[in-house]
Amino acid sequence: MTHVAVPLVLRMGFGKAKVSNRLVILACIAAILPDVDVIAFKLGIPYASAFGHRGFSHSLLSVVIVGLFASICYKPLKSDPKWAFFIVSLSMASHGILDSLTNGGLGIAFLWPESNHRYFLPWRPIEVSPIGIKNFFTARGLQVILSEIVWVWFSCLMIGIITLTLRKTLNRRVIDNV
Ligand SMILES: [Zn+2]
Repeated sequence: MTHVAVPLVLRMGFGKAKVSNRLVILACIAAILPDVDVIAFKLGIPYASAFGHRGFSHSLLSVVIVGLFASICYKPLKSDPKWAFFIVSLSMASHGILDSLTNGGLGIAFLWPESNHRYFLPWRPIEVSPIGIKNFFTARGLQVILSEIVWVWFSCLMIGIITLTLRKTLNRRVIDNV
């Protein structure tokens, strides 16, 4: 669920005028959508398969497809095509990027279907999340939650505050110059 930090920060930074309630809800769904692939474990699909966990659903192609869907639905999202694409695709792309900063599991198939190579970023400070809710209520689960608070929530909050401050400062300058 930590993945929703990114769309929430985008809303904070760009404001309700650019990121409507409906758009931020869709962006939150897009941010967690890649992990529907955990069903692969139940279906007996190997982790390393293109259709396994962190496979095709985490790819840049999936990001673009979901982003295009959002841009087509811009009217009910109370947005415009460019913003709907930008917010939803950035939220979904951030999922794979955050996963590639974790210290366990397999990497991310960013380039699927061109390649099923699994990528990690060179720096991986985030504790990998256990799969299954009951595994969170353990000492290891607590360690993961603390790691996500520090590396994701705190970092996103800082970016949100900086963007919000810049936006307010720029808006004030525009008003002062009118
Ligand atoms: Zn994931």
